[in-house]
Amino acid sequence: MNHVIAPPTTPSIAVHGKSERFPVRRIYCVGRNYAEHAIEMGGTGREAPFFFMKPADAVLPVEAGAIGAMPYPSLTKNLHHEVELVVAIGQGGRDIPAAEALRHVWGYAVGLDMTRRDLQNDMKKAGRPWDIGKGFEASAPIGPLTPAAQVPGIHRAPIVLDVNGTVRQVSHIDRMIWSVAEIIEHLSAAWTLAPGDLIYTGTPEGVAAVVAGDLLEARVEGLEPLRVRITD
Ligand code: MN
Repeated sequence: MNHVIAPPTTPSIAVHGKSERFPVRRIYCVGRNYAEHAIEMGGTGREAPFFFMKPADAVLPVEAGAIGAMPYPSLTKNLHHEVELVVAIGQGGRDIPAAEALRHVWGYAVGLDMTRRDLQNDMKKAGRPWDIGKGFEASAPIGPLTPAAQVPGIHRAPIVLDVNGTVRQVSHIDRMIWSVAEIIEHLSAAWTLAPGDLIYTGTPEGVAAVVAGDLLEARVEGLEPLRVRITD
């Protein structure tokens, strides 16, 4: 097919132990999925799951062993880290029951849902969409994907974020309010999932600001760690 402009390239992320990459179609994110984080954001910790999206080209793919560079974004004075388990969908579907949901998962990665918190809060107060706070360039750093079969213990794994070698966020995946399977059930009731979709599954408590020069190291046990430097 001919196009009137060059077609945009498909964003993609690395895969553990393979040269082939995982192409990204959509990025779904879950809000307030750990009780202590929901409380620190002003909620009760007992809400139904809710979702927002980032554009696919918001991914900042970081290769195994590398340190990604995330430019400090425009307009904000309060850039926050949110360490999250990311689910990669390999088989699409709609109205997927939780009992069948894990069959749709290709693999898992560690991600950061970077947030312009001041802009997000302004939009919340005004009852306006969050996109400017959440969906900006390089707002979704992500490490290499590991196939689901290689990480059977992922649903109980520790999740940690260090900034400059000091622990900022620490929890366990089994403290999520809504499990990976339940998230897929809810999400696929609202949207038809397809191969290439990523789901950022929410962050535990301890979100805080970073500044240019900071080194973030995000880990979920069993997955490749994700390291990102904030640059000017
Ligand atoms: Mn988040």
